[in-house]
Amino acid sequence: MEHFVIVGGGAAGHQAARGILDVQPQARVSLVSREPQLPYDRPHLSKGFLASQSQEPALLAGHELYAEPGVERIGGAWVAEIDRQAARVQLDSGDSLAYDKLVLATGSRVRTLPAAIAQTPVHYLRTFEDALALRSRLIADAHVVVIGGGFIGLEVAAAARQRGCRVTVVEALGQLLARSGCEPLSRWVQALHVAQGVDIQLQVSVSAIERGPSGKTVVQTSAGPVLADLVVVGIGVQPNVELASACGLAVEDGIVVDSTCATTDASIFAAGEVTRYTVAHLGVRTRSESWTAAGEQGRAAGRAAAGDSLASYAEVPWLWSDQYSSAIQCLGLPALAHTYSFIGDVDADQWLALGWSQEDQLVCAIGANRNRDISAIRRSLKRNDALAEQYTATLASAKTTTGK
Ligand SMILES: Cc1cc2nc3c(=O)[nH]c(=O)nc-3n(C[C@H](O)[C@H](O)[C@H](O)COP(=O)(O)OP(=O)(O)OC[C@H]3O[C@@H](n4cnc5c(N)ncnc54)[C@H](O)[C@@H]3O)c2cc1C
Repeated sequence: MEHFVIVGGGAAGHQAARGILDVQPQARVSLVSREPQLPYDRPHLSKGFLASQSQEPALLAGHELYAEPGVERIGGAWVAEIDRQAARVQLDSGDSLAYDKLVLATGSRVRTLPAAIAQTPVHYLRTFEDALALRSRLIADAHVVVIGGGFIGLEVAAAARQRGCRVTVVEALGQLLARSGCEPLSRWVQALHVAQGVDIQLQVSVSAIERGPSGKTVVQTSAGPVLADLVVVGIGVQPNVELASACGLAVEDGIVVDSTCATTDASIFAAGEVTRYTVAHLGVRTRSESWTAAGEQGRAAGRAAAGDSLASYAEVPWLWSDQYSSAIQCLGLPALAHTYSFIGDVDADQWLALGWSQEDQLVCAIGANRNRDISAIRRSLKRNDALAEQYTATLASAKTTTGK
């Protein structure tokens, strides 16, 4: 019987295990993960979890499979090396595991500030332990300084406001969500936070975070010092590609995979936030920082590794963010948009922006409280159906506007 080894116990690794068992219910599967917990829901950590009293992570659906006789979960363990010649992975405990098929689902880690800037402890948010530590500090009237105006930083800002904290968001660029949205979304999300009492500081850089008087922290910024009770840093992630590069797999800011999730070694597959894959609909390669993508690609990788010749993943990236009572969704790649057309008023609660390439191809859709539209567009792209006329009709208006 084949032995499948999965490295990584996030959404991608967990779904890979499910995918393998879909195809080979009796398969021998070993999942190695640094996390001691069963696979859990990461997006929940910056949303409901920060508002809750829960002392446990929200486990992923299907976690019962780790109690199955053929499935072994090795938690709290680290894979230090892959020996492709011998088809073995080496754990830092000294143990090693032989594999027939290997799935790399090693995800990402947070980008950290250099020690010369972060001279005193700051919070990051990636793991359950990070969320527990952060939540214990979100007490009424504490002043929280969030460095980074991306999705994670803004979700933390919203959760902190809801817990009665005072919040300042410091962003080096001239707009919030600069990487993942469009200019109207940046303005809209800024207004949303300002209305909730968040102090947003744009084009402000941080030069040092130092110990201040009476247990406070001083954040030295280009706009002057800010006194904080705690500092949360959300400045992006970097993919955990080191294992893959060290054993000679192709890596380009992510492990390169084809539509079957295979790497450049036919017995090694990869899935989730660590991969760079081709989005079939747009014909470009990307690395997606999205929960849904990680799970769907993980499932496909597991199925492909187990021999399902139809298993593939080449979907348009899609992610969502919940802040206060608003839902933001981004489908596709805003970086490819040349012009935008809009449905609804971008200064109101609900609107939809459609991003078009120079060749009039829909390359992204960004929605504020328009989840149904995003789902409809996503379904059309998935099935390769023509877009509904209500969306394509807006293209004419886009041609009268230019830029983003
Ligand atoms: C706080 C937070 C909120 C988020 N909110 C949203 C959201 O609202 N919407 C959305 O679409 N996305 C969101 N995301 C992003 C989404 O959660 C990720 O894209 C997704 O979890 C990636 O899953 P993954 O399995 O690829 O990687 P990960 O979840 O990073 O899992 C990687 C796993 O690999 C393990 N690992 C790595 N290297 C090794 C090794 N050498 N040995 C052993 N184990 C190893 C890690 O410990 C981990 O278990 C959020 C992320 C965070 C952190």
